[in-house]
Amino acid sequence: MKQDFYVVLGVQRDASEADIKKAYRKLAMECHPDRNNGEKSAEEKFKLVTEAYEVLRDPDRRAAYDRYGMAGVGRGQGGGAGGGGFSSMHFDLSEALMVFMRDFGIGGSGGFENLFGGGTRRDRRRGHDIKVGLKLTLAEVATGTTKTVRIKSLESCPECAGTGAKPGTQPVRCGTCGGSGEVRHQAQSLFGQFLTVSPCPSCAGEGTIIQSPCDRCGGDGRIKGEKTIQIDVPAGVADHHYLTVRGQGVPGPRNGARGDLIAVLDIKEDPRFERHGDDLVFDLGITFTQAALGAEVQVPTPFGQTTLRVDPGTQTGMAYRLRSKGLPRLGEGGHGDLHVRIHVWTPTKLTAEQRKLLEKLSEVEDAPPEKESGKFWDTIRRALGQL
Ligand SMILES: [Zn+2]
Ligand SMILES: [Zn+2]
Repeated sequence: MKQDFYVVLGVQRDASEADIKKAYRKLAMECHPDRNNGEKSAEEKFKLVTEAYEVLRDPDRRAAYDRYGMAGVGRGQGGGAGGGGFSSMHFDLSEALMVFMRDFGIGGSGGFENLFGGGTRRDRRRGHDIKVGLKLTLAEVATGTTKTVRIKSLESCPECAGTGAKPGTQPVRCGTCGGSGEVRHQAQSLFGQFLTVSPCPSCAGEGTIIQSPCDRCGGDGRIKGEKTIQIDVPAGVADHHYLTVRGQGVPGPRNGARGDLIAVLDIKEDPRFERHGDDLVFDLGITFTQAALGAEVQVPTPFGQTTLRVDPGTQTGMAYRLRSKGLPRLGEGGHGDLHVRIHVWTPTKLTAEQRKLLEKLSEVEDAPPEKESGKFWDTIRRALGQL
């Protein structure tokens, strides 16, 4: 696309630098993408006028352009496409925006959005988020689950299909803003006058006005309703985590965007386990003979029973680590560990036979060594990273 840059800017061939700047500024303000809802034709025009301005504002490039046309400005600084310098290739939008910002000083970080009102009309009408509590058991945390929740909220009005207008009628274009949803004000800055844009007060930024409201929803486009939502809960979640289900919150008025559904997790304690992140601790009672002779015992995990081999000579307070028998690691893959904390159980009631056998044992048993206890608790505390 080869267009004459003087024509693009609407200036004479002998226009002064000031004239060129003034002409560009006016055109760029009109077709700035932030003021045209990102409309493609405005964006193209913005890029074109910026390109024309970039050439004509620079005396050397302008002279080259006057003599050789596009060929004269094609070999700019840096040379070659993608070199970062100017080339005859069309600007991309961000380059064009930078040129505008550089020479007119408006904007800065996030500038244009603020300057031109920001946000889209739909955003201003976005519905609220809905927060729900979600109770889970440890078994559900271990495997992940899908929960169904019933929610009382607002729903799109079926009578008017959410438009708020009485069936058979249409919302009409707002007379104050002409349907753009925005009103413009002249403002003064160091760099001269510029326009600011804010939501139209007549239509609250919607661009349309409802003259005959729907009887059922009174023009809001929503009515009270109830719905059922399924929430997928990944394995390994923790208490007070929350899950966001996009677009399942309250719909905005008159078909505005929906808010989100936010499920705050409430995980019921499992009396069998102590939870430390992805690791679990289980307290296992064993008998004196199991401790002394060794044994195979069943221990629970969040996924069912598993077998633990207790070594001969196991003491109270010793801990066994069952690797990967804890909870799934959320989003990482793999599992935490299950720590089995041993308690040697002393019987409180003895039968005659038991008493006889223990008395016999007592004649041959050894005394416990000194300085042995104490270190066992350290084992588990170390394993849990508390030491
Ligand atoms: Zn309006
Ligand atoms: Zn309605």
